[in-house]
Amino acid sequence: QKNIAPIIRAEALTKNFQGMVALNAFDFSVNEGEIVGLIGPNGSGKSTVVNLLTGVLAPTSGRVLIDGKDFTGAAPHVVARHGVVRTFQMIRLFPSLTVERNIVLALQEQSGPGYMSSFLNRRNAMAWHEKAACKARDMLALFEMEKHAHKLATDLSIGQQRMVELARGLATNPRIFILDEPAAGLSPINVDRLIEMIRRMRDEFGVTILLVEHVMRVVQAVCDRVVVLDYGQKVADGKPDVVVQDPKVIEAYIGL
Ligand code: ADP
Ligand code: MG
Repeated sequence: QKNIAPIIRAEALTKNFQGMVALNAFDFSVNEGEIVGLIGPNGSGKSTVVNLLTGVLAPTSGRVLIDGKDFTGAAPHVVARHGVVRTFQMIRLFPSLTVERNIVLALQEQSGPGYMSSFLNRRNAMAWHEKAACKARDMLALFEMEKHAHKLATDLSIGQQRMVELARGLATNPRIFILDEPAAGLSPINVDRLIEMIRRMRDEFGVTILLVEHVMRVVQAVCDRVVVLDYGQKVADGKPDVVVQDPKVIEAYIGL
């Protein structure tokens, strides 16, 4: 792809929870323009990786580098402002706010001090909000969710809520978008749609993607490379069709 310098890198990343090793000396990187899959059985440490990369958890040891700079232990909003954006395994929308408002809030959160300064003057604030709402609607249109813009998030199906989460993340112009099990709870048709949208986010918007996913159909359809975890240990890293035939990977899944 375009550039071979990794956007994000984990060096010997380790996380213990009360003496239990959830992630052990994990070395890993994602290059610009790649779609990398992170797979492994339940409890193998996938969400822990995501939480460590995004500042939700601090590692027991090891480092997190973004564009070669040390972000170990940085707060989630600091990491996010460097273009590392994520979704959560459990959907996190504000249920009693409209779909559009959920996206505007993410833009507000991202612009931080810039947003506050727009409040110095009422006209600036209104212009800011108008622009943000416009961006939100553009994103919703892309995900074919425009007609739901003024519904409450809670009134959407799980599939629709997942699309809103993708629209919300993409609205903040991520450099790397980390998706934690986006296919969970989706119907086969919505899985097809998800596959299409993951590809489009990379191909049309230039977003690098780290995809944590259980649904192998999605992984095989979109990933350039797949990393496999088992008991907090990396057991494979390679092309999807090679990795799924790796005896260590097969054993990790059969040993469930
Ligand atoms: P995965 O996402 O692959 O299913 P996780 O990263 O969620 O796995 O979990 C890895 C291991 O760490 C599991 O054994 C899990 O129970 C444990 N774990 C995850 N988060 C915590 C936490 N906050 N406190 C204690 N144990 C945790
Ligand atoms: Mg998980």
